[in-house]
Amino acid sequence: MKTTTDLGDLRGKRVLVRSDLNVPLDGTTITDDGRIRASAPTIKGLADAGARVIVCAHLGRPKGAPEAKYSLAPVAKRLGEVLGSDVVFADDTVGDDAKAKAAALEDGQVLLLENLRFNAGETAKTDEERAEFAGELASLADVFVSDGFGVVHRKQASVYDVARLLPHATGDLVSTEVDVLRRLTKDPERPYAVVLGGAKVSDKLGVIGNLLGTADRLLIGGGMVFTFLAAQGHEVGKSLLESDQVDTVKGYLERAEREGVEIVLPVDVVAADAFSADADHEVVAVDAIPADRMGLDIGPESSALFADKLADCRTVFWNGPMGAFEMEPYAAGTKALAEALVDITARGALTVVGGGDSAAAVRQLGFRDEQFGHISTGGGASLEYLEGKELPGLTVLEEGDA
Ligand code: ADP
Ligand code: MG
Repeated sequence: MKTTTDLGDLRGKRVLVRSDLNVPLDGTTITDDGRIRASAPTIKGLADAGARVIVCAHLGRPKGAPEAKYSLAPVAKRLGEVLGSDVVFADDTVGDDAKAKAAALEDGQVLLLENLRFNAGETAKTDEERAEFAGELASLADVFVSDGFGVVHRKQASVYDVARLLPHATGDLVSTEVDVLRRLTKDPERPYAVVLGGAKVSDKLGVIGNLLGTADRLLIGGGMVFTFLAAQGHEVGKSLLESDQVDTVKGYLERAEREGVEIVLPVDVVAADAFSADADHEVVAVDAIPADRMGLDIGPESSALFADKLADCRTVFWNGPMGAFEMEPYAAGTKALAEALVDITARGALTVVGGGDSAAAVRQLGFRDEQFGHISTGGGASLEYLEGKELPGLTVLEEGDA
C-alpha cells in the first residue's frame, strides 16, 4: 500500500481524504471528539505539504437524503479548532456549493464536505449507483487518501469505488490501525487475551471462532455474557439473550475446551429490575439471577477475577463495555477492566481498545488515551480484521492505481 509520501509533491494538488468523523452528538454538541482528533494529523500533514485538502465523511445513518440532525457542520467547527486553522464547510457533498468551494481552495486550506450519506449513491448496493457517486466525488480532486479506518470494512463509494478512480494512498491513521492489528494476529506476545463485551452480541460472536485459534484467553462480559451463561444452563432472567445463538456458543465452549483456550466468564453480576439508573439493583451469583431481573454489569468478584486473568498478559484486545456503563450504578465493571489494562500497559504489555462505545467509556470514566497502547477508531473494522475477513477498503488500496 502506498503512503501519502509516495504521492510526491502535493503542493497545489486537490487531495480528497476519506476520514471517519462519525462522532456521538447530543443535539449539535460533540460528546466525544476522539475520531476528530485521530483524523487530524493526516489532514494537517497534507495541508502542511501545501495540498488543497477536501475531507469527506459520514455521520450517523441518514437514509440517502439530507437531514439536519446529521449535518457535519458541528464537526467542521471542531476540526478547525483541533487543526488550529479554519475549516471551510460545504453544505452539500458533490453539489454546487461543494464544487465552488473545492475550486476556490488555496494551497494548505481544508474543506469539509457535507455528510456523504445524504447521497443514496454512497451506500448503494449496485456497483453502478456507487460508481456514479464516486465519479462525482473523484471529479473534485486529483488524488485520494483513504484514512477512515472505521469504514474500511464497507464497500461504499467513498471508501472503495473512489479509490479505483484516482491515484491513491493509505492515510497515517489507517496505516497505524492496520499495523496494530497485524501485531495482534501475527505472532502476538503471549499470554494473549481478548476481552469481549457490549451489546452487539450476534455481530461479535462471529469473531470468536477465529479467536479460538489465536488467543490464549477469552474474557466475556457485557450483554454477551448471558448467551454464554444460558449455554451453560443458567437462567438469565430478563437479561440480554440471543436464544438462537445458544447452540453456536455451546460449540465455542466445547472447542475452547478441546483446544486449551481458557474462557473466563463472570461469577457474579449486578441484577436490576429495569434498564434504568434508578432501578432497584443487587449483586447476585450467576447461578442465582432472579427471573424478573436483568444483568447490567459484571459484579465485583468478576472484576477481580478478570483483573487477575489479565495481570500476566503481554497482549490484550478489548472490545465492548462490561456493563451499561452510561448509567453510574453499572459502570464499575468497565472501570475495573480499564484499570487492569492501564496497569499492564504500564508494565509494557500491548493493549488495544476497539469499539466506539468502549473508547467513549474509557474517556467518560476519566482515563487518558495515552494510558492504553492503542485506542482504535474502528470497532467493526477491527473485529472483521481479527475475524480474518477481507476488508474491501484495504483490498482496493493494495490493488494499486487505476
Ligand atoms: P462497542 O461500540 O464498544 O463495540 P457495543 O456497541 O457492542 O460496544 O455495546 C455498547 C453498549 O453495550 C453500551 O451502550 C452498553 O450500555 C451496552 N451494554 C453493556 N453491557 C450490557 C448489558 N449487560 N445489558 C445491556 N446493555 C449492555
Ligand atoms: Mg457501539
